[in-house]
Amino acid sequence: MDFDMLGLAPRLVNVLKEQGITDPTPIQTQAIPHAMNGRDVMGLAQTGSGKTAAFGLPMIHALLKAGVKPNPKTSRGLILAPTRELAKQIADNLTAYTKGTHLKVALVVGGAGIVAQTKRLAGGVDLLVATPGRLIDLLDRRAVRLDETIYLVLDEADQMLDMGFIHALRRIAPLLAKDRQTMMFSATMPKLMGELAGTYLTDAIRVQVNPPGQAVKKINQSVHFVAQAAKTDLLIELLDKHRDELAIVFGRTKHGCEKLYKVLEKKGFAAASIHGNKSQGQRQRALEAFKAGKTRVLVATDVAARGLDIPDVRFVYNYDLPNVAENYVHRIGRTARAGADGSAVALVAPDEMIELKDIEKAMKDTIPVASGREWEIQPGQKKRPNGGGGGGRRGAGGGGNRSGAPRAAGKPGGGQGKPAGRRRSGGGGNRSRSQSAA
Ligand code: AMP
Repeated sequence: MDFDMLGLAPRLVNVLKEQGITDPTPIQTQAIPHAMNGRDVMGLAQTGSGKTAAFGLPMIHALLKAGVKPNPKTSRGLILAPTRELAKQIADNLTAYTKGTHLKVALVVGGAGIVAQTKRLAGGVDLLVATPGRLIDLLDRRAVRLDETIYLVLDEADQMLDMGFIHALRRIAPLLAKDRQTMMFSATMPKLMGELAGTYLTDAIRVQVNPPGQAVKKINQSVHFVAQAAKTDLLIELLDKHRDELAIVFGRTKHGCEKLYKVLEKKGFAAASIHGNKSQGQRQRALEAFKAGKTRVLVATDVAARGLDIPDVRFVYNYDLPNVAENYVHRIGRTARAGADGSAVALVAPDEMIELKDIEKAMKDTIPVASGREWEIQPGQKKRPNGGGGGGRRGAGGGGNRSGAPRAAGKPGGGQGKPAGRRRSGGGGNRSRSQSAA
């Protein structure tokens, strides 16, 4: 099967060929024919699966075929993405796929100048990639209207659920052409997604490459049971073993990530951080330095790092477990891309046990233990409050000097937990490195 056989215009097939894109990926093989037939599509696939082309190529094909010039301040297609980084990545890909054609691709995201974006939209564009907040801003300023928009894509739609974009969507969707084609892509399929699909898609065909909630098999997962106060030291110890490899460290709060990144930098790691408190320029620079291998450790919150296509990430550390189980799958999906090997290491404090159980339930699998013993869940123990607001006391980071906190098994430094008597299967050594390193 090649792109010709999927029915794409020869001109488009040639552009792809020039970029080394010759064999459709599974999500492309499945989605493109339906999308070309004008069907609404619900696609379950992660970044890295080639999903941008899966929704982008049919739109580009149709736009080339129609040959209609967009009217001023309109866009024929709209792609909504949850984060600025993802939006930029999509726009970059679509720009590459439309190379040599008359099609215009525009990117509008927060954190960048609105005047230049307004100018870009003035003459009308064919494909508009946007984050919802900035798009609403531009709609309010009458810099763009959507009544001629006949293609809508919601990318990483499950993350939009997390991030409260539903409200934005409720405002944006009614402004689009009634007779339109809608495609929704998501890495997971939580219940709310079904409702979202029911609201915005009509008679959609569902295509899927990885069963939702199941991690890619090549990822070597492990968990260390370690007190919160000892996490930073353990992380440093682990990172130190592979200083030349790219690693992403996920924390829960912006503030915590910033602190942790500073500790790592002091320890001589080429580190950077990405989170919602950084300017767009800082985020983009950090990402580019990481992609180029100039920085080796990227400390990030979920908001900033999901959906990104960064090749060669060998290690993903969950310094804090995510509040939402599906995000674990997203996070560890940053490694083992393009068939490479990758490791996902979770550092779990006593008060993260509920999160861990949720994650294992979602994956229908237990994560092998690398060190420590499973903490006992206390009666009445609840999930940690969501760290999204930044500055949470329990967020990532800062623990560097608090390693004097008790670590010996049975005296966890992290608070209420106690190691449970049971050691889980698949474990490595029988003493925790963290618990014996004090
Ligand atoms: P995506 O999942 O859309 O973020 O795509 C991940 C990367 O794979 C992007 O850099 C694409 O340009 C690339 N890509 C997409 N489709 C193909 C394909 N059929 N063959 C090779 N590379 C592809």
